[in-house]
Amino acid sequence: MMGMKSDIRLIDDNGLRIDGRLPNQLRPIKMEVGVVKRADGSAYIEWGGNKIIAAVYGPREAYPKHVQESDRAIVRARYNMAAFSVDERKRPGPDRRSVELSKVISEALTSAIFVEKFPRTAIDVYIEVLQADAGTRVAGITVASLALADAGIPMRDLIVGCAAGKVDDVVVLDLNKEEDNFGQADVPMAILPRTGEIALLQMDGDLTYDELTNAMEMAMDAAKKIYNMEIETLKAKYGGDVNEQ
Ligand code: UDP
Repeated sequence: MMGMKSDIRLIDDNGLRIDGRLPNQLRPIKMEVGVVKRADGSAYIEWGGNKIIAAVYGPREAYPKHVQESDRAIVRARYNMAAFSVDERKRPGPDRRSVELSKVISEALTSAIFVEKFPRTAIDVYIEVLQADAGTRVAGITVASLALADAGIPMRDLIVGCAAGKVDDVVVLDLNKEEDNFGQADVPMAILPRTGEIALLQMDGDLTYDELTNAMEMAMDAAKKIYNMEIETLKAKYGGDVNEQ
């Protein structure tokens, strides 16, 4: 649980973080699309110490039939952490956390997809965390968005996940594992950068109103950078007009 200030120093005398970043600096990010041959669309992301694959299947007829919606597609994201993805072996299979994350990620992705174009179908999005270092839900949303685009699923916009928070009383962007463990607050967000719409907003820990505003602005700025990386990644595979889908 966050909220308490810890004894561990997370910001040094020069205002730098334990991995040398400035407060508003992202960790390094690398993206690739089309990494899983059997899937309709797929993508891979390395974001700091996170390594995540997303694979998309569909839209295809939804089974069991009673889950079908007559006027739209249902989006079923499944967030899963590999047993070897964290320091202490993660017990395989769904737990409370992964069920919650699957639900909020499904909702965030639904808000970007033109689901009404595909009644009675399901769009399955598998998010496999191979290595985790904090921020996996937002990195997972980002890589899922790329996989959806790779599958040719029409979306109002690409979606970008990004977190901000507070460590040592300083508002910072994109917390790593130590900052997540010993920091005071973490605010994961998902953003549709073209309109500035927010598709996910959660908060662990305590922030004042001004700190929250500051954290959200930081995440919004970073989302635009990550968005450009998404566009470049898709252009590298598909050429010019990925933005006009
Ligand atoms: N984590 C872990 N074991 C778990 C769940 C999480 O070691 O069973 C680590 C993992 O590195 C994860 C981080 O704790 O990225 C932060 O988890 P949180 O629930 O805040 O979600 P995230 O920040 O990854 O979206």
